[in-house]
Amino acid sequence: MADLVERFVRNHRLADGEEYRMLLECLKEPAAAEYVRAEAVRIRKKYYGKNVYVRGLIEFTNYCKNNCFYCGIRRENHRAVRYRLSVEEILECCENGRKLGFRTFVLQGGEDPWFTDERLAELVRSVKGAFPDCALTLSVGERSFDSYRTLRKAGADRYLLRHETADEAHYGILHPADMSLSARKQCLYNLKKLGFQTGAGFMVGSPGQTYQNLASDLMFLKELQPEMAGIGPFIPHHDTGFAKEPPGSVELTIKLLSVIRILLPAVLLPATTALGTLAHDGRERGLAAGANVVMPNLSPKKNRKQYSLYDHKLCEGEEAAEGIRSLRRRIEAAGYQLSMERGDAAGF
Ligand code: SAM
Repeated sequence: MADLVERFVRNHRLADGEEYRMLLECLKEPAAAEYVRAEAVRIRKKYYGKNVYVRGLIEFTNYCKNNCFYCGIRRENHRAVRYRLSVEEILECCENGRKLGFRTFVLQGGEDPWFTDERLAELVRSVKGAFPDCALTLSVGERSFDSYRTLRKAGADRYLLRHETADEAHYGILHPADMSLSARKQCLYNLKKLGFQTGAGFMVGSPGQTYQNLASDLMFLKELQPEMAGIGPFIPHHDTGFAKEPPGSVELTIKLLSVIRILLPAVLLPATTALGTLAHDGRERGLAAGANVVMPNLSPKKNRKQYSLYDHKLCEGEEAAEGIRSLRRRIEAAGYQLSMERGDAAGF
């Protein structure tokens, strides 16, 4: 058992799914988990020093044509109060962020058909035109190769699209039949091909998830080689069919952050809002496990509660852009440095 952990730490990979599954079993042993955590921290330091990069998250639409079973803004949640920000409102969010020193904006939203390629590309051009020294990340779901190419040409730098689970059967538990893992994966390969810094990722503890599924997630990440990886615990939303499901484990999420840091040494790895929502010290524990990105919320205050993916989602205090000073204090107290650089992936 200890051999397997040692081999993973040395080679940054294992042979197959069964070995990854066994690695996760091994990490139930506190000494093994601590060994992997310390190694993850050493690697993060080698690539990024003490830097923790800040991304201003702008949740610009909660309209969604998809019906992912876990998500509070799914199409069939008729209780969700829908909103869509105007270009002016989005630029104002960026302006507020820029004043606070932010150099990356993440435009995230549901799959909102109102945002045709033309409208989205125009939005990208407006943001990049007004803030040329800032990186722009999009996170707007599955689109065609041509659509991604248009957005890339318009100036978008990065794209976040979690694969959610790399196991076909598990994908079917989380999504309706009109969505498929193969389409999701193809989008990720297209994004890589088009030169986006690409982010994949998954929820930890989503309904029906096994260690075997997580092993598939790790193998998929190793194969895709994304520049960013977003993982956070699943948290139930009261208006979904998963309302009564238990949330994912903070401890397991933290161990997986360390495993991913070792698997993909130069990856940009956020300590996510979901982690901060389930544990008051979730962000610090994520950073202490190898994470190096935080994403405070820059959306207009009036809309924050409406982007309700899961219950009790944090959007205040240090999770909000205006809480940046106190976020900086907390991050410095934990021994890191809040970086206001663009924070591209090392070696990209
Ligand atoms: N529509 C885009 C997409 O699908 O990539 C971006 C928005 S989507 C709401 C952002 C992420 O929220 C998803 O990738 C998913 O992992 C996460 N999410 C949704 N519901 C969640 C829940 N109940 N618990 C934790 N994370 C959730």
